[in-house]
Amino acid sequence: MPKGTLVIISAPSGTGKSTICRKLLQKRKDLRYSISCTTREPRTGEKHAKHYFFLTKEEFKRKIARNEFLEWAVVHDHYYGTPRSFIESTVKSGLNIVLAIDIQGAAAIHRKMPDAILVFVAPPSIESLRERLTARRDPSESVAKRLANSKNEMSAAKNYDYLVVNDDLEKAVHHIDCIITAESLRVARQE
Ligand code: 5GP
Repeated sequence: MPKGTLVIISAPSGTGKSTICRKLLQKRKDLRYSISCTTREPRTGEKHAKHYFFLTKEEFKRKIARNEFLEWAVVHDHYYGTPRSFIESTVKSGLNIVLAIDIQGAAAIHRKMPDAILVFVAPPSIESLRERLTARRDPSESVAKRLANSKNEMSAAKNYDYLVVNDDLEKAVHHIDCIITAESLRVARQE
């Protein structure tokens, strides 16, 4: 059986990548989502083992020591990591998998799994990003920090395979859906 395709989506915080991933998962029955671990506090409505595995710093560090992450990074002062075993078993079973991770994590996974597809989702403008981050009204988040980081993140887009601008949600989802289909049909991915 051909292996599944690993699709890595990165985007500045507030670009809408969680919504894009949710819609992609509704559309594609052959797609699974890699739930990351994090030490940040859950936002309103976020659930453990659905949006993230919310861990203490100690729990997170134990997992690092046991080599349970494919990659991990400190993003906006919190630890984030991609659990290894779920990715390896899902890809082996022939299903595709989407990861929404930052630019450091994307580069680290691409080094280990060069077949992974890198998709960068950009906001239509910095102003739209500011509006979305402010509307999120999460006191634990620093809008200024996330906006400042977004400039560095945007400059990494040149290292990605695809660039999708989220100026229209349905269009952005459709484009990434097409990318996954096209990549899955590559001769090299089929036996
Ligand atoms: P947020 O706190 O807004 O959910 O995520 C902050 C940043 O961390 C985003 O860029 C998100 O993609 C990234 N992130 C989420 N999970 C992981 C992960 O497992 N590894 C890495 N390196 N970054 C992650």
